[in-house]
Amino acid sequence: MLSNFIDATYIVSGLMFILALAGLSKHETAKRGNAFGILGMVLAIVATNFAIAYTDYANHELQPISAVLLYAALAIGAVIGIWRARKVEMTGMPELIALLHSFVGAAAVMVGFNAFLQRPDASGFQQIEVFLGVFIGAVTFTGSIVAWGKLNGKLASKPLALPGRNWLNLGAVVVLGLLGWWFVSSHSIIPLVLATLVSLALGIHLVASIGGADMPVVISMLNSYSGWAAAFTGFTLGLTILVITGALVGASGAILSYIMCRAMNRSFISVILGGFGESTAVGPVVEGEHREASTADVAELLEQARKVIIVPGYGMAVAQAQHLVAELTRSLQAKGTDVRFAIHPVAGRLPGHMNVLLAEARVPYDIVEEMDDINDDFATTDVVLVIGANDTVNPAAMEEGSPISGMPVLHVWEARTVVVFKRSMSAGYAGVQNPLFFNENTVMCFGDAKASAQAIVSQLPQLEATAR
Ligand code: NDP
Repeated sequence: MLSNFIDATYIVSGLMFILALAGLSKHETAKRGNAFGILGMVLAIVATNFAIAYTDYANHELQPISAVLLYAALAIGAVIGIWRARKVEMTGMPELIALLHSFVGAAAVMVGFNAFLQRPDASGFQQIEVFLGVFIGAVTFTGSIVAWGKLNGKLASKPLALPGRNWLNLGAVVVLGLLGWWFVSSHSIIPLVLATLVSLALGIHLVASIGGADMPVVISMLNSYSGWAAAFTGFTLGLTILVITGALVGASGAILSYIMCRAMNRSFISVILGGFGESTAVGPVVEGEHREASTADVAELLEQARKVIIVPGYGMAVAQAQHLVAELTRSLQAKGTDVRFAIHPVAGRLPGHMNVLLAEARVPYDIVEEMDDINDDFATTDVVLVIGANDTVNPAAMEEGSPISGMPVLHVWEARTVVVFKRSMSAGYAGVQNPLFFNENTVMCFGDAKASAQAIVSQLPQLEATAR
């Protein structure tokens, strides 16, 4: 009876996760999707608690001390999780997510070892499950830690180019295959330990070999790997809900990686294989004179403009300028200016990063456009405000020989005037210099994006009053 209740709750919980994913696919239903996800997780936790109690009473497998340890670990984890989630800045989100993926990987490795130590003579099929779980878990663990380091700047974002790196990856896969065969046929822990070490090294190498602008794909790929690691853990533990959620995360992460590869004009396979065959060019050195504009100059430009497009990027997130940018949008709209936002698929440091910030600042969805829908409209635009974006508006992507070559970018330079808000002339995440800054129709408005937006918002009404 109790086991039926637990199974039924797991199925309902799995259904909630599917509804959550469906909801999250559109802005309008995203909140509802999140609510389904939370409900699904609560149900899964409740059912798991019953499952533990059931094992305890029916089979006496779980000793009270295990329950105490379990709940103590849950409580400590929950306290740390709540503390970190409350403290994290919006700009620190991608790193936190990368770190959380590494925990999933580490958990899969530990569960795999635990399962093996408890039942070293399990069937061949179960041994394969354990081996795959440990392999994917270890790759996810170190890969995510390298991604975390690259995102927070502790590790260089440029690709590590070891000689013969493709052969190294291929060699590691062959060695893992042989170790897997040894493990299943011998039931010895030695090949499992060796495979873990090789997988840990492979995880570091795969992600370290991927450079700046390709990182978004790596993040979603690690998300996918963490899902598959969880699914294998579910098989090992005989937990259907973990298999369902792991498969959902694994499959949706893989689809997202594919979509991001298409958006960046990259080969899915080459990125998965650690930048297979990618060039490690650093891009041409750009020289020239740039022109500067004060916030008063920009306010005046905006006062005259009829059609404005705002291109937000990572710098808007750093400056937390989204609320002032939304206020600027409302002021411009109030005087009849046509204002829209152009969102590049990899702007920021997280898929959908800009959409989240703009939604938080209550910018209406109908003026927020995807790259492909708005790219042809720059040519008929008076002023483009590039707010803390750099790689995503870099025309070097349209030339050969740059690390971002082939990546589609927003054609902001086609507008009459481009205003770039940033603090210096430094390069973006991919480390590639941006020739846009030296164009005749570009002006640089130096300073923190929030302070600049604030200054423009306060100068606009005065200009309007003078004009009247
Ligand atoms: P970039 O990272 O290319 O550039 C951001 C710019 O913002 C910098 O040049 C910086 O210049 C400026 N900036 C930083 N702080 C401020 C501030 N307080 N005020 C004003 N400007 C500021 O941004 P994009 O969004 O154009 O491109 C995203 C890049 O990140 C791409 O290369 C993408 O591939 C990569 N990436 C994306 C991920 C995703 O999932 N979206 C994940 C991982 C990487 P300065 O220092 O001079 O102010």
